[in-house]
Parts: sequence; C-alpha cells; structure tokens
Amino acid sequence: MKKILIPAFAALAILATSCTKTSKGAYKHVVILGVDGAGAWFSETTSPNTFAISSEGTSAYDVVTSFPTISGQCWGSMLHGVLPEDHKLTNEIASTVPYDTESPYPSIFRVVREADPDAPLASFSHWGPINIGIIENNLGVVEGTGSDPVVRDQILSYLEGNDPTLLFIQFDSVDGAGHANGYGTPGHLAQITTVDGMIGEIYDAYRRKGILDDTLFIITADHGGTPDGSHGGDTPAERIVFLGIHGRTIAPGGTISGAEIRDIPAIAAYALGLEAPQTWTGTIPAGIFPEIR
Ligand SMILES: [Zn+2]
Repeated sequence: MKKILIPAFAALAILATSCTKTSKGAYKHVVILGVDGAGAWFSETTSPNTFAISSEGTSAYDVVTSFPTISGQCWGSMLHGVLPEDHKLTNEIASTVPYDTESPYPSIFRVVREADPDAPLASFSHWGPINIGIIENNLGVVEGTGSDPVVRDQILSYLEGNDPTLLFIQFDSVDGAGHANGYGTPGHLAQITTVDGMIGEIYDAYRRKGILDDTLFIITADHGGTPDGSHGGDTPAERIVFLGIHGRTIAPGGTISGAEIRDIPAIAAYALGLEAPQTWTGTIPAGIFPEIR
C-alpha cells in the first residue's frame, strides 16, 4: 500500500481544527424569521414545518420578550440587542423617525454591514415600521413589504438570485388574527398554521439552493397576547415567546435555557463570526451552541 505522507504542520492543523470545533463563524448565512403575535403557541397548533425545523435543532417555549409587549419595543430589542429603555423605539417612533445611524445600539444589520461592505442584506416585513425606523436606512438593505403572502413571494423571488448574509422576515397576519379573535383561540392558532406553511416554503428554498448547511435559521415571535385580543402588558401570555434555531453545528433536540428576545442579535453575530458590540446587553443563552453552556 502506498503510504501517504502528511507534513507535520498539516497534521497539527487538522488536529487543531478537530479539537477547537466552534460555531463562531461556522455560518455564511443567518435567517431571523419573526411571527408577530405568535407568542409560544407553535406547540399548541398544527405547525409541522416549525416543529420539524426546531426539533432538528434546538428550541425554547419560555423565552422572555421585552416590556411593554408592543411590536416597536420588541422588534427593537430583537434587532438591536438591548431593552426598550436603551433603543427607545415605540410604534410611533418606528413609523416616523429613521433610526440613528450613529446610535451606540446598532442593529445586527449595521454590525454585519460594518464588517463586510459587500454582504447582501435583506429585510422583508409585512409591518412597515421595521424598514422605516428600526433598521438603519443607510446600509443598503434590500427591503420589501406587503401582506404575508406577498412578503413570502418577494422572499422566494429574491432568493432565486441572492444568497443573503442576513435575511430578516416579519410575518404579521398572526397578530391580526390574535387581535380579531383573541390570542390562543382557534382563529389565532389557525393563522399560525397558515404562516407555518410559508415558513416551510422559505426553509425549502434554502434547502433547494444547497446552502442550508451554511445557514443558521432562527424562528421566533415578538410577543404574544391575551384571550381578549390585546397585548402590551406583562402577563405570561404576552411576555413568553417561542424560539427555534436550526443549524449544522447544533445538536438535534436541544433546549435553550434562560433566553430573552434581546439575545437574538448576539446569536446571529456569533454564527457569522462577528464580535457583538459591547453595548448590547443581550448574550448567547445556553443550549444553542455546544461550546456555550
Ligand atoms: Zn407585534
């Protein structure tokens, strides 16, 4: 048999790689997919795609979102890594005022852009204020808005020609169904099932493109709501949300512990190999990446 000689330094490099397996920088793409008003109800309705994605990864049904449980405050925390007292976003401000491009609390989009001027970035959101006043306007983020099916179609079309480093998605129809029918009611749960189908289509697009192995897929919600169709308060039904994360370096069937919605940008930055700004108060919870316990 022919003997294969491996130079000593190459052998050491192989050894070092296998000994220091880390998720930091293990991904070229991150998807943050938020279902407005879905709370933690994914487990109480038919949501086969979300269940399949999260059960092949890691998940939690006790993630704490920001207070007050209002979209502007909560999406603000999910994208800027801090509580509302720091990012100071409200629905009214996010609807009318562009986010300060020099803020000490940058969005995950600004962090990625500052690390890579050429990174393709995209945000498709039913709820307009995310692209108006929550994500900074000077980053060259490809944006789209419309009803949930329109947003879904825009994303699928965009993905045909692009491999975004960061893709943010906001679906809003579940929150509308919660306001109309009460959160946790059959009408609200049925809309989660409908949106779950769209989540499956987007996930499948990544699979078809052959980049799923390089993608960290995050599914969550900004807040829940009450049976009488409101949110903004501090009850568990409003404060507790779902988080499911799928990625190549994540052991299947795990449970995330102690997570808050402001942790999501830190998770995304780590996956892409970027340093989180020291001003972010969100951190990486245990139960996602094997090396962070
Ligand atoms: Zn909301």
